[in-house]
Amino acid sequence: MIYEPVIGLEIHIQLKTKTKMFCGCPTHDTAVKPNEHICPICLGHPGVLPVVNEQAIHSGILMGLALNCEIASHSKFDRKNYFYPDLPKSYQISQYDLPIAKNGFVDIEIPDGARKVARIGITRAHLEEDAAKNLHKEGENTYVDFNRGGTPLIEIVTEPDFRSAQEAKIFLQELRLIARYLGISDADMEKGHLRCDANISLRQIDDQGGIVGARFNPKMEIKNLNSFRHVERALEHEIQRQTKLWEAGTPPFISMTRGWNDVKGITEEQRSKEEAADYRYFPEPDIPPLELRELADEIRRRLPELPAARRARFVEEYALKGSDARQLCEDPALAEFVEHVFSELHAWFIALPELQETEETVLDHEKEKLAKLVSGWLLSKLGGLLSERAIDIRTMKINPENFAEFITLISTRKLNNTAGLKVLNAMLDDGDDPTHIMEEQRLGRMDDEGTLAELISSTIESYPVEVARYRAGEEQILQFLIGMVMKASEGTADPGIAKNMLLVALKAE
Ligand code: ADP
Ligand code: ZN
Ligand code: MG
Repeated sequence: MIYEPVIGLEIHIQLKTKTKMFCGCPTHDTAVKPNEHICPICLGHPGVLPVVNEQAIHSGILMGLALNCEIASHSKFDRKNYFYPDLPKSYQISQYDLPIAKNGFVDIEIPDGARKVARIGITRAHLEEDAAKNLHKEGENTYVDFNRGGTPLIEIVTEPDFRSAQEAKIFLQELRLIARYLGISDADMEKGHLRCDANISLRQIDDQGGIVGARFNPKMEIKNLNSFRHVERALEHEIQRQTKLWEAGTPPFISMTRGWNDVKGITEEQRSKEEAADYRYFPEPDIPPLELRELADEIRRRLPELPAARRARFVEEYALKGSDARQLCEDPALAEFVEHVFSELHAWFIALPELQETEETVLDHEKEKLAKLVSGWLLSKLGGLLSERAIDIRTMKINPENFAEFITLISTRKLNNTAGLKVLNAMLDDGDDPTHIMEEQRLGRMDDEGTLAELISSTIESYPVEVARYRAGEEQILQFLIGMVMKASEGTADPGIAKNMLLVALKAE
Protein backbone atom coordinates (compact mmCIF):
# COMPACT_ATOMS: atom_id res chain seq x y z
CA MET A 1 0.00 0.00 0.00
CA ILE A 2 1.21 3.52 -0.80
CA TYR A 3 0.61 6.38 1.61
CA GLU A 4 0.18 9.73 -0.07
CA PRO A 5 0.89 12.95 1.85
CA VAL A 6 -1.93 15.52 1.91
CA ILE A 7 -0.62 18.93 2.95
CA GLY A 8 -2.22 22.36 3.32
CA LEU A 9 -0.53 25.54 4.53
CA GLU A 10 -1.68 28.52 6.56
CA ILE A 11 0.65 31.47 6.11
CA HIS A 12 0.88 34.85 7.77
CA ILE A 13 2.72 37.62 5.96
CA GLN A 14 3.49 40.86 7.72
CA LEU A 15 2.71 43.82 5.49
CA LYS A 16 5.31 46.52 5.01
CA THR A 17 2.97 49.45 5.67
CA LYS A 18 4.09 52.73 7.20
CA THR A 19 1.60 52.49 10.04
CA LYS A 20 -0.26 49.78 11.93
CA MET A 21 -3.52 48.17 10.81
CA PHE A 22 -5.92 50.36 12.81
CA CYS A 23 -3.89 53.24 14.30
CA GLY A 24 -1.17 55.71 13.31
CA CYS A 25 1.71 54.02 15.14
CA PRO A 26 4.71 53.14 12.98
CA THR A 27 5.07 49.40 12.38
CA HIS A 28 7.34 47.76 14.92
CA ASP A 29 10.27 47.03 12.58
CA THR A 30 11.60 50.53 13.16
CA ALA A 31 11.34 50.47 16.96
CA VAL A 32 14.51 50.30 18.99
CA LYS A 33 12.99 49.81 22.45
CA PRO A 34 10.11 47.64 23.65
CA ASN A 35 6.77 49.45 23.87
CA GLU A 36 7.96 52.43 21.86
CA HIS A 37 5.35 52.36 19.12
CA ILE A 38 2.12 52.15 21.06
CA CYS A 39 -1.01 54.25 21.52
CA PRO A 40 -4.41 53.91 23.17
CA ILE A 41 -5.82 52.19 20.04
CA CYS A 42 -3.26 49.39 19.74
CA LEU A 43 -3.27 49.03 23.52
CA GLY A 44 -7.03 48.51 23.40
CA HIS A 45 -8.03 51.30 25.77
CA PRO A 46 -11.77 51.71 26.24
CA GLY A 47 -13.60 54.11 23.99
CA VAL A 48 -11.04 54.30 21.16
CA LEU A 49 -11.99 53.76 17.53
CA PRO A 50 -9.95 51.74 15.01
CA VAL A 51 -9.45 53.23 11.53
CA VAL A 52 -8.56 50.87 8.68
CA ASN A 53 -5.15 51.33 7.05
CA GLU A 54 -5.75 52.00 3.36
CA GLN A 55 -2.28 50.79 2.33
CA ALA A 56 -3.01 47.44 3.99
CA ILE A 57 -6.24 47.09 1.99
CA HIS A 58 -4.29 47.82 -1.21
CA SER A 59 -1.67 45.24 -0.26
CA GLY A 60 -4.38 42.68 0.47
CA ILE A 61 -6.00 43.22 -2.91
CA LEU A 62 -2.62 43.07 -4.69
CA MET A 63 -1.84 39.75 -3.05
CA GLY A 64 -5.34 38.42 -3.75
CA LEU A 65 -4.97 39.28 -7.43
CA ALA A 66 -1.48 37.80 -7.63
CA LEU A 67 -2.90 34.56 -6.23
CA ASN A 68 -5.60 34.55 -8.95
CA CYS A 69 -8.33 35.06 -6.36
CA GLU A 70 -11.75 36.64 -6.62
CA ILE A 71 -11.65 39.92 -4.72
CA ALA A 72 -14.73 40.36 -2.56
CA SER A 73 -16.79 43.30 -3.74
CA HIS A 74 -18.24 43.39 -0.24
CA SER A 75 -16.02 42.54 2.71
CA LYS A 76 -15.90 43.29 6.44
CA PHE A 77 -13.90 42.82 9.62
CA ASP A 78 -14.85 40.57 12.53
CA ARG A 79 -13.80 40.15 16.13
CA LYS A 80 -12.11 36.89 17.02
CA ASN A 81 -12.41 36.54 20.78
CA TYR A 82 -9.83 34.95 22.98
CA PHE A 83 -8.04 35.97 26.14
CA TYR A 84 -4.27 36.14 26.22
CA PRO A 85 -1.83 38.75 27.60
CA ASP A 86 -0.55 39.65 24.14
CA LEU A 87 -4.06 40.71 23.08
CA PRO A 88 -5.14 43.69 25.17
CA LYS A 89 -8.65 44.00 23.67
CA SER A 90 -9.28 40.29 24.37
CA TYR A 91 -10.20 39.99 20.73
CA GLN A 92 -8.27 40.22 17.48
CA ILE A 93 -9.74 42.17 14.59
CA SER A 94 -9.69 39.71 11.69
CA GLN A 95 -11.97 38.60 8.86
CA TYR A 96 -14.26 35.61 9.17
CA ASP A 97 -16.91 34.87 6.55
CA LEU A 98 -16.17 37.63 4.03
CA PRO A 99 -12.41 37.56 3.46
CA ILE A 100 -10.93 40.11 1.10
CA ALA A 101 -9.94 37.35 -1.40
CA LYS A 102 -10.92 33.73 -2.08
CA ASN A 103 -10.84 30.87 -4.61
CA GLY A 104 -7.48 31.40 -6.21
CA PHE A 105 -4.55 29.25 -7.31
CA VAL A 106 -0.81 29.34 -7.87
CA ASP A 107 1.10 27.09 -10.27
CA ILE A 108 4.50 26.04 -9.06
CA GLU A 109 7.26 24.21 -10.92
CA ILE A 110 8.85 21.24 -9.17
CA PRO A 111 12.21 20.69 -10.90
CA ASP A 112 12.70 17.02 -10.01
CA GLY A 113 9.40 16.17 -8.40
CA ALA A 114 6.97 13.37 -9.17
CA ARG A 115 4.87 15.99 -10.94
CA LYS A 116 6.60 18.82 -12.76
CA VAL A 117 3.92 21.44 -12.20
CA ALA A 118 1.55 21.57 -9.26
CA ARG A 119 -1.52 23.78 -9.10
CA ILE A 120 -2.12 24.81 -5.50
CA GLY A 121 -5.61 26.06 -4.70
CA ILE A 122 -5.88 29.16 -2.53
CA THR A 123 -8.88 28.86 -0.23
CA ARG A 124 -8.80 32.41 1.02
CA ALA A 125 -6.70 35.40 2.02
CA HIS A 126 -7.78 37.81 4.71
CA LEU A 127 -6.44 40.82 6.62
CA GLU A 128 -5.95 40.98 10.37
CA GLU A 129 -3.82 42.54 13.07
CA ASP A 130 -0.87 40.87 14.73
CA ALA A 131 -0.76 40.22 18.48
CA ALA A 132 1.93 41.67 20.76
CA LYS A 133 4.98 39.66 21.70
CA ASN A 134 5.42 37.80 24.98
CA LEU A 135 8.97 37.58 26.25
CA HIS A 136 9.45 34.73 28.67
CA LYS A 137 12.60 35.31 30.66
CA GLU A 138 14.00 32.11 32.10
CA GLY A 139 13.33 31.98 35.87
CA GLU A 140 11.88 35.47 35.73
CA ASN A 141 8.66 37.20 34.76
CA THR A 142 7.00 37.22 31.38
CA TYR A 143 7.08 40.62 29.70
CA VAL A 144 4.88 41.91 26.90
CA ASP A 145 6.22 44.10 24.10
CA PHE A 146 3.30 45.81 22.31
CA ASN A 147 5.35 47.17 19.39
CA ARG A 148 4.17 44.31 17.20
CA GLY A 149 0.57 44.52 18.42
CA GLY A 150 -1.66 45.83 15.64
CA THR A 151 0.82 45.26 12.79
CA PRO A 152 -1.05 44.39 9.56
CA LEU A 153 -0.98 40.77 8.48
CA ILE A 154 -2.40 38.93 5.54
CA GLU A 155 -3.30 35.32 6.26
CA ILE A 156 -3.31 32.97 3.28
CA VAL A 157 -4.91 29.53 3.52
CA THR A 158 -4.25 26.93 0.84
CA GLU A 159 -6.27 23.89 -0.15
CA PRO A 160 -4.71 20.56 0.91
CA ASP A 161 -3.08 20.31 -2.52
CA PHE A 162 0.59 19.62 -1.75
CA ARG A 163 1.83 16.05 -2.18
CA SER A 164 5.34 16.42 -0.76
CA ALA A 165 7.39 18.51 1.66
CA GLN A 166 9.37 19.83 -1.31
CA GLU A 167 6.22 21.17 -2.99
CA ALA A 168 5.30 23.02 0.20
CA LYS A 169 8.76 24.57 0.41
CA ILE A 170 8.78 25.65 -3.24
CA PHE A 171 5.35 27.22 -2.83
CA LEU A 172 6.50 29.24 0.18
CA GLN A 173 9.54 30.45 -1.70
CA GLU A 174 7.36 31.50 -4.61
CA LEU A 175 4.99 33.26 -2.22
CA ARG A 176 7.91 35.16 -0.71
CA LEU A 177 9.01 36.21 -4.19
CA ILE A 178 5.49 37.32 -5.12
CA ALA A 179 5.30 39.45 -1.95
CA ARG A 180 8.64 41.04 -2.87
CA TYR A 181 7.60 41.70 -6.48
CA LEU A 182 4.42 43.33 -5.22
CA GLY A 183 6.49 45.34 -2.74
CA ILE A 184 4.06 44.55 0.07
CA SER A 185 6.48 42.68 2.35
CA ASP A 186 10.09 41.55 2.50
CA ALA A 187 8.63 38.22 3.59
CA ASP A 188 11.80 37.18 5.43
CA MET A 189 11.05 34.04 7.40
CA GLU A 190 14.05 34.62 9.66
CA LYS A 191 12.67 38.00 10.67
CA GLY A 192 9.17 36.63 11.22
CA HIS A 193 7.68 38.51 8.26
CA LEU A 194 6.44 35.20 6.93
CA ARG A 195 5.22 32.51 9.33
CA CYS A 196 3.77 29.19 8.43
CA ASP A 197 1.63 26.46 9.98
CA ALA A 198 1.63 23.21 8.03
CA ASN A 199 -1.24 20.71 8.10
CA ILE A 200 -0.54 17.16 7.12
CA SER A 201 -2.28 13.81 6.92
CA LEU A 202 -1.78 10.69 4.83
CA ARG A 203 -4.19 8.70 2.71
CA GLN A 204 -3.95 5.34 1.06
CA ILE A 205 -3.71 5.09 -2.70
CA ASP A 206 -3.53 2.09 -5.03
CA ASP A 207 -0.98 1.50 -7.78
CA GLN A 208 -3.01 3.55 -10.26
CA GLY A 209 -3.06 6.49 -7.87
CA GLY A 210 -6.75 5.98 -6.97
CA ILE A 211 -7.74 6.87 -3.42
CA VAL A 212 -8.49 3.90 -1.17
CA GLY A 213 -10.73 4.67 1.79
CA ALA A 214 -11.27 8.22 3.04
CA ARG A 215 -10.36 11.15 0.82
CA PHE A 216 -9.21 13.09 3.88
CA ASN A 217 -8.03 11.82 7.23
CA PRO A 218 -7.42 13.55 10.57
CA LYS A 219 -4.51 15.96 10.21
CA MET A 220 -1.63 17.18 12.29
CA GLU A 221 -1.10 20.92 12.37
CA ILE A 222 2.57 21.83 12.87
CA LYS A 223 2.78 25.30 14.36
CA ASN A 224 5.14 28.22 13.93
CA LEU A 225 7.64 27.02 11.40
CA ASN A 226 10.07 29.87 10.92
CA SER A 227 12.39 28.82 8.11
CA PHE A 228 12.00 27.03 4.79
CA ARG A 229 14.25 24.31 6.08
CA HIS A 230 12.10 23.78 9.16
CA VAL A 231 8.99 23.49 7.02
CA GLU A 232 10.60 20.86 4.81
CA ARG A 233 12.21 18.90 7.65
CA ALA A 234 9.12 18.98 9.87
CA LEU A 235 6.91 17.73 7.04
CA GLU A 236 9.36 15.00 6.05
CA HIS A 237 9.58 13.86 9.63
CA GLU A 238 5.80 13.87 10.00
CA ILE A 239 5.36 11.87 6.77
CA GLN A 240 7.66 9.19 8.18
CA ARG A 241 6.03 9.22 11.61
CA GLN A 242 2.52 8.95 10.19
CA THR A 243 3.54 6.28 7.69
CA LYS A 244 4.75 4.12 10.58
CA LEU A 245 1.45 4.66 12.41
CA TRP A 246 -0.50 3.60 9.30
CA GLU A 247 1.70 0.56 8.78
CA ALA A 248 1.17 -0.44 12.40
CA GLY A 249 -2.59 -0.22 11.83
CA THR A 250 -2.95 2.74 14.21
CA PRO A 251 -3.34 5.85 12.03
CA PRO A 252 -4.11 9.18 13.76
CA PHE A 253 -7.82 9.22 14.60
CA ILE A 254 -8.18 12.82 15.76
CA SER A 255 -6.64 16.05 14.53
CA MET A 256 -3.91 17.40 16.75
CA THR A 257 -1.55 20.32 17.01
CA ARG A 258 2.16 19.58 17.12
CA GLY A 259 5.30 21.69 17.47
CA TRP A 260 8.59 21.31 15.59
CA ASN A 261 11.68 20.70 17.72
CA ASP A 262 14.54 21.49 15.37
CA VAL A 263 17.24 20.36 17.78
CA LYS A 264 15.78 16.89 18.16
CA GLY A 265 14.48 16.85 14.58
CA ILE A 266 11.02 15.70 15.64
CA THR A 267 7.49 17.03 16.02
CA GLU A 268 6.03 17.01 19.52
CA GLU A 269 2.43 16.70 20.65
CA GLN A 270 0.86 19.94 21.87
CA ARG A 271 -2.91 19.65 22.10
CA SER A 272 -5.82 17.99 20.37
CA LYS A 273 -8.00 20.07 18.08
CA GLU A 274 -11.02 19.12 20.18
CA GLU A 275 -9.76 21.46 22.85
CA ALA A 276 -9.44 24.33 20.39
CA ALA A 277 -11.07 27.56 21.49
CA ASP A 278 -14.46 28.71 20.27
CA TYR A 279 -13.65 32.18 19.04
CA ARG A 280 -17.24 33.52 19.08
CA TYR A 281 -16.64 35.52 15.89
CA PHE A 282 -18.96 38.47 15.34
CA PRO A 283 -18.85 41.52 13.04
CA GLU A 284 -16.61 44.37 14.21
CA PRO A 285 -19.17 47.12 14.92
CA ASP A 286 -16.63 49.98 14.88
CA ILE A 287 -15.46 49.50 11.29
CA PRO A 288 -17.79 50.11 8.33
CA PRO A 289 -17.95 47.29 5.74
CA LEU A 290 -15.60 47.52 2.77
CA GLU A 291 -16.91 48.02 -0.76
CA LEU A 292 -13.98 47.00 -2.94
CA ARG A 293 -15.18 46.53 -6.51
CA GLU A 294 -13.83 49.77 -7.98
CA LEU A 295 -10.62 49.69 -6.02
CA ALA A 296 -9.97 46.10 -7.11
CA ASP A 297 -10.52 47.03 -10.78
CA GLU A 298 -8.14 49.93 -10.48
CA ILE A 299 -5.43 47.85 -8.77
CA ARG A 300 -5.85 45.04 -11.31
CA ARG A 301 -4.95 47.49 -14.08
CA ARG A 302 -1.62 48.33 -12.47
CA LEU A 303 -0.67 44.90 -11.19
CA PRO A 304 3.09 44.47 -11.80
CA GLU A 305 4.51 41.57 -13.77
CA LEU A 306 4.78 38.57 -11.46
CA PRO A 307 7.81 36.27 -11.12
CA ALA A 308 6.39 33.40 -13.22
CA ALA A 309 5.52 35.71 -16.11
CA ARG A 310 8.87 37.42 -15.92
CA ARG A 311 10.77 34.13 -15.98
CA ALA A 312 8.83 33.00 -19.05
CA ARG A 313 9.48 36.33 -20.78
CA PHE A 314 13.21 36.17 -19.99
CA VAL A 315 13.38 32.81 -21.77
CA GLU A 316 11.25 33.97 -24.68
CA GLU A 317 12.64 37.46 -25.20
CA TYR A 318 16.29 37.13 -24.18
CA ALA A 319 16.88 33.45 -25.07
CA LEU A 320 17.98 32.70 -21.51
CA LYS A 321 18.02 29.13 -20.23
CA GLY A 322 15.08 28.32 -17.96
CA SER A 323 17.25 27.71 -14.91
CA ASP A 324 19.21 30.93 -15.49
CA ALA A 325 16.02 32.94 -15.95
CA ARG A 326 14.78 31.52 -12.65
CA GLN A 327 17.93 32.58 -10.82
CA LEU A 328 17.97 36.03 -12.39
CA CYS A 329 14.35 36.61 -11.34
CA GLU A 330 14.96 35.58 -7.71
CA ASP A 331 15.54 39.19 -6.76
CA PRO A 332 13.42 41.93 -8.35
CA ALA A 333 16.41 44.32 -8.33
CA LEU A 334 18.59 41.82 -10.17
CA ALA A 335 15.82 41.13 -12.70
CA GLU A 336 15.48 44.88 -13.27
CA PHE A 337 19.24 45.12 -13.86
CA VAL A 338 19.13 42.24 -16.36
CA GLU A 339 16.28 43.94 -18.18
CA HIS A 340 18.38 47.10 -18.69
CA VAL A 341 21.49 45.17 -19.69
CA PHE A 342 19.62 43.31 -22.42
CA SER A 343 17.95 46.38 -23.79
CA GLU A 344 21.39 48.00 -24.13
CA LEU A 345 22.88 44.84 -25.63
CA HIS A 346 20.14 44.25 -28.13
CA ALA A 347 20.41 47.80 -29.36
CA TRP A 348 24.13 47.25 -29.92
CA PHE A 349 23.61 43.79 -31.35
CA ILE A 350 20.98 44.79 -33.89
CA ALA A 351 23.32 47.51 -35.16
CA LEU A 352 26.24 45.16 -35.83
CA PRO A 353 26.96 45.35 -39.57
CA GLU A 354 27.86 41.66 -39.84
CA LEU A 355 24.42 40.71 -38.51
CA GLN A 356 22.43 42.93 -40.82
CA GLU A 357 21.76 40.40 -43.54
CA THR A 358 21.88 37.22 -41.52
CA GLU A 359 19.19 34.62 -41.33
CA GLU A 360 16.87 34.40 -38.37
CA THR A 361 18.35 31.11 -37.15
CA VAL A 362 21.83 32.60 -37.01
CA LEU A 363 20.46 35.58 -35.17
CA ASP A 364 18.73 33.30 -32.65
CA HIS A 365 21.94 31.42 -32.17
CA GLU A 366 23.87 34.64 -31.58
CA LYS A 367 21.21 35.76 -29.14
CA GLU A 368 21.59 32.54 -27.19
CA LYS A 369 25.35 32.98 -27.05
CA LEU A 370 24.90 36.49 -25.74
CA ALA A 371 22.39 35.29 -23.15
CA LYS A 372 24.86 32.68 -21.92
CA LEU A 373 27.58 35.31 -21.59
CA VAL A 374 25.30 37.63 -19.64
CA SER A 375 23.99 34.98 -17.27
CA GLY A 376 27.43 33.46 -16.75
CA TRP A 377 29.09 36.76 -15.97
CA LEU A 378 26.19 38.00 -13.86
CA LEU A 379 25.43 34.90 -11.84
CA SER A 380 28.75 33.25 -11.26
CA LYS A 381 31.35 35.98 -11.73
CA LEU A 382 29.66 39.20 -10.59
CA GLY A 383 27.45 37.30 -8.14
CA GLY A 384 30.55 35.78 -6.59
CA LEU A 385 32.32 39.12 -6.29
CA LEU A 386 29.26 40.73 -4.74
CA SER A 387 28.89 38.09 -2.06
CA GLU A 388 32.65 38.02 -1.45
CA ARG A 389 32.61 41.74 -0.80
CA ALA A 390 29.15 41.79 0.82
CA ILE A 391 27.81 44.32 -1.68
CA ASP A 392 24.10 44.50 -2.50
CA ILE A 393 23.09 44.78 -6.14
CA ARG A 394 20.95 47.78 -5.18
CA THR A 395 23.96 49.78 -4.07
CA MET A 396 26.71 48.43 -6.33
CA LYS A 397 28.60 50.91 -8.47
CA ILE A 398 28.24 49.08 -11.78
CA ASN A 399 25.32 50.38 -13.80
CA PRO A 400 23.59 48.35 -16.52
CA GLU A 401 25.08 50.47 -19.34
CA ASN A 402 28.61 49.74 -18.17
CA PHE A 403 27.86 46.08 -17.63
CA ALA A 404 26.43 45.80 -21.15
CA GLU A 405 29.55 47.49 -22.51
CA PHE A 406 31.62 45.00 -20.57
CA ILE A 407 29.71 42.12 -22.17
CA THR A 408 30.33 43.57 -25.64
CA LEU A 409 34.08 43.70 -24.89
CA ILE A 410 34.02 40.05 -23.88
CA SER A 411 31.78 39.06 -26.75
CA THR A 412 34.00 40.75 -29.35
CA ARG A 413 37.04 39.19 -27.67
CA LYS A 414 38.62 42.52 -26.89
CA LEU A 415 38.82 41.22 -23.32
CA ASN A 416 39.53 37.64 -22.35
CA ASN A 417 38.14 35.98 -19.23
CA THR A 418 41.15 36.56 -16.98
CA ALA A 419 41.45 40.22 -17.86
CA GLY A 420 37.64 40.46 -17.75
CA LEU A 421 37.59 39.50 -14.11
CA LYS A 422 40.15 42.21 -13.33
CA VAL A 423 38.08 44.80 -15.19
CA LEU A 424 34.93 43.71 -13.35
CA ASN A 425 36.67 44.09 -10.01
CA ALA A 426 37.85 47.57 -10.94
CA MET A 427 34.34 48.48 -12.10
CA LEU A 428 33.01 47.46 -8.69
CA ASP A 429 35.62 49.62 -6.99
CA ASP A 430 34.83 52.92 -8.60
CA GLY A 431 32.00 52.53 -11.10
CA ASP A 432 34.28 53.43 -14.02
CA ASP A 433 33.41 52.29 -17.53
CA PRO A 434 35.11 49.09 -18.71
CA THR A 435 36.75 50.43 -21.86
CA HIS A 436 38.45 53.13 -19.83
CA ILE A 437 39.66 50.62 -17.21
CA MET A 438 40.84 48.24 -19.91
CA GLU A 439 42.90 50.92 -21.61
CA GLU A 440 44.26 52.46 -18.44
CA GLN A 441 45.37 49.13 -16.97
CA ARG A 442 46.43 47.75 -20.36
CA LEU A 443 44.16 44.77 -19.99
CA GLY A 444 42.88 44.71 -23.55
CA ARG A 445 43.75 41.80 -25.77
CA MET A 446 47.30 41.93 -27.05
CA ASP A 447 46.44 42.69 -30.68
CA ASP A 448 49.94 43.75 -31.47
CA GLU A 449 51.46 40.65 -33.06
CA GLY A 450 54.96 42.09 -32.83
CA THR A 451 54.81 42.21 -29.02
CA LEU A 452 53.28 38.77 -28.89
CA ALA A 453 56.01 37.40 -31.18
CA GLU A 454 58.63 38.80 -28.80
CA LEU A 455 56.95 37.12 -25.82
CA ILE A 456 56.88 33.85 -27.71
CA SER A 457 60.55 33.89 -28.62
CA SER A 458 61.57 34.84 -25.07
CA THR A 459 59.40 31.97 -23.74
CA ILE A 460 61.11 29.55 -26.11
CA GLU A 461 64.48 30.78 -24.87
CA SER A 462 63.50 30.52 -21.20
CA TYR A 463 62.33 26.90 -21.39
CA PRO A 464 64.90 25.03 -23.56
CA VAL A 465 64.29 21.68 -21.80
CA GLU A 466 60.52 21.82 -22.32
CA VAL A 467 60.95 22.96 -25.93
CA ALA A 468 63.30 20.06 -26.61
CA ARG A 469 60.87 17.58 -25.07
CA TYR A 470 58.05 19.00 -27.19
CA ARG A 471 60.12 18.68 -30.33
CA ALA A 472 60.97 15.10 -29.33
CA GLY A 473 57.28 14.28 -29.49
CA GLU A 474 55.78 15.14 -26.05
CA GLU A 475 52.85 17.07 -27.48
CA GLN A 476 51.19 17.78 -24.14
CA ILE A 477 54.07 20.19 -23.32
CA LEU A 478 52.46 22.66 -25.73
CA GLN A 479 49.77 23.48 -23.16
CA PHE A 480 52.46 24.41 -20.66
CA LEU A 481 54.22 26.66 -23.16
CA ILE A 482 50.95 28.41 -24.07
CA GLY A 483 50.39 28.92 -20.35
CA MET A 484 53.80 30.57 -20.00
CA VAL A 485 53.12 32.90 -22.93
CA MET A 486 49.74 33.83 -21.40
CA LYS A 487 51.42 34.49 -18.09
CA ALA A 488 54.07 36.68 -19.71
CA SER A 489 51.30 38.68 -21.38
CA GLU A 490 49.58 38.99 -17.99
CA GLY A 491 46.58 37.24 -19.41
CA THR A 492 46.00 39.73 -22.21
CA ALA A 493 47.04 37.57 -25.16
CA ASP A 494 44.37 35.76 -27.11
CA PRO A 495 45.04 32.08 -26.30
CA GLY A 496 44.05 30.94 -29.81
CA ILE A 497 46.37 33.37 -31.54
CA ALA A 498 49.16 32.63 -29.04
CA LYS A 499 48.81 28.92 -29.77
CA ASN A 500 49.03 29.37 -33.54
CA MET A 501 52.01 31.66 -33.35
CA LEU A 502 53.72 29.33 -30.89
CA LEU A 503 53.19 26.34 -33.20
CA VAL A 504 54.71 28.25 -36.08
CA ALA A 505 57.68 29.35 -33.97
CA LEU A 506 58.33 25.83 -32.64
CA LYS A 507 58.33 24.38 -36.13
CA ALA A 508 60.57 27.12 -37.52
CA GLU A 509 63.86 26.00 -36.01
P1 ADP B 1 -9.41 23.58 10.63
O1 ADP B 1 -10.78 23.15 10.83
O2 ADP B 1 -8.41 22.84 11.42
O3 ADP B 1 -9.23 25.06 10.67
P2 ADP B 1 -9.45 23.81 7.77
O4 ADP B 1 -10.34 22.94 7.00
O5 ADP B 1 -9.85 25.21 7.99
O6 ADP B 1 -9.07 23.11 9.15
O7 ADP B 1 -8.03 23.77 7.05
C1 ADP B 1 -6.90 24.36 7.60
C2 ADP B 1 -5.71 23.98 6.73
O8 ADP B 1 -5.53 22.56 6.78
C3 ADP B 1 -5.88 24.29 5.26
O9 ADP B 1 -4.63 24.73 4.76
C4 ADP B 1 -6.26 22.98 4.63
O10 ADP B 1 -5.80 22.88 3.30
C5 ADP B 1 -5.54 21.98 5.49
N1 ADP B 1 -6.24 20.69 5.60
C6 ADP B 1 -7.55 20.48 5.76
N2 ADP B 1 -7.80 19.17 5.86
C7 ADP B 1 -6.63 18.52 5.75
C8 ADP B 1 -6.24 17.14 5.81
N3 ADP B 1 -7.08 16.17 5.99
N4 ADP B 1 -4.93 16.87 5.67
C9 ADP B 1 -4.03 17.86 5.52
N5 ADP B 1 -4.34 19.14 5.47
C10 ADP B 1 -5.62 19.48 5.60
ZN1 ZN C 1 -1.07 52.41 17.99
MG1 MG D 1 -10.03 26.71 9.62
